[in-house]
Amino acid sequence: MASSAAAKSSITIRLCGPRGFCAGVDRAIQIVVLALKEFGAPVYVRHEIVHNRYVVEGLEAKGAIFVEELDEIPLEHRKQPVVFSAHGVPKSVPADADQGNLFYLDATCPLVSKVHKQAMRHHRLGRHVVLIGHAGHPEVIGTMGQLPEGAVSLIETVEDADVYEPSDPDNLGFVTQTTLSVDDTAGVIKRLHERFPNLTAPAADSICYATTNRQEAVKQAAPGCDLFLIVGAPNSSNSKRLVEVALRAGARKAVLVQRAAEIDWATVGDIATVGLSAGASAPEVIVNEIIEAFRERYHARVELADTVEENEHFLVNRELRHVELTVADMAFVNGE
Ligand code: SF4
Repeated sequence: MASSAAAKSSITIRLCGPRGFCAGVDRAIQIVVLALKEFGAPVYVRHEIVHNRYVVEGLEAKGAIFVEELDEIPLEHRKQPVVFSAHGVPKSVPADADQGNLFYLDATCPLVSKVHKQAMRHHRLGRHVVLIGHAGHPEVIGTMGQLPEGAVSLIETVEDADVYEPSDPDNLGFVTQTTLSVDDTAGVIKRLHERFPNLTAPAADSICYATTNRQEAVKQAAPGCDLFLIVGAPNSSNSKRLVEVALRAGARKAVLVQRAAEIDWATVGDIATVGLSAGASAPEVIVNEIIEAFRERYHARVELADTVEENEHFLVNRELRHVELTVADMAFVNGE
């Protein structure tokens, strides 16, 4: 790498598309911004609305207050809305909100709600539910919390599937977290099917379109990349999966970064091709910041590595549909 303009070397940035915000993240951020406009500050948000500090800090600056539990909302603010994050919540959370006379707006992504319905359907039909996902992730906590305790077993890996001993092996139905690795999950499902041939799949894939498309774009762009940067937070499941996908698909090195300032230029070394993508909760403004950081140090040519076009759009809650956003609000909601 060269630091002076005269000694700049040339690199290609392979910019994946689709990348960054998905329809569920866009909707969740919009709900908070619209709620602030309609009801004024503060608007409480239970858990990070999406796993991204830049977004969270931007919303805090507008008057949102993030809490982990409803009882953190002070009594004098209990008439202000509280928004549930895009990851979904256990049934006990809206029940507690009703009990405490709180006004809540649910920003759960419709594709997470779909998984909740798939799990409830298995349960209604008398099946024990196998949830494939990562322990402790808010989406997993939310999905498990749709059903009574003991109705769901969590499987994280093929090794878990190897040793899983259900009480009724012929009466199982599975669902998955929406943001898993498509390839890893296929391996876990295959193993479960080998052991439990009567295992019932959900009516449709639980891994969402945004996860699938971002992984496919990274998979296609990764071969030949000396470095692959994924913009995303360490607690963002879909962003972490993109790092794994890049490495498996042939990138020499793959790293998760939250901001351009985090890039350790001393370790970047001699590179010719850099892959670049962003998790579903990472705003485009940071992708641009990273491209600029490369341009300061290299003659960087951006090559678009697009796979499919996404047109998904999810409506916000009925109570907020009449509220209008300014151009500046729209830019923030779109991550620009
Ligand atoms: S990653 Fe998928 S499930 Fe999660 S918010 Fe986006 S569209 Fe919804």
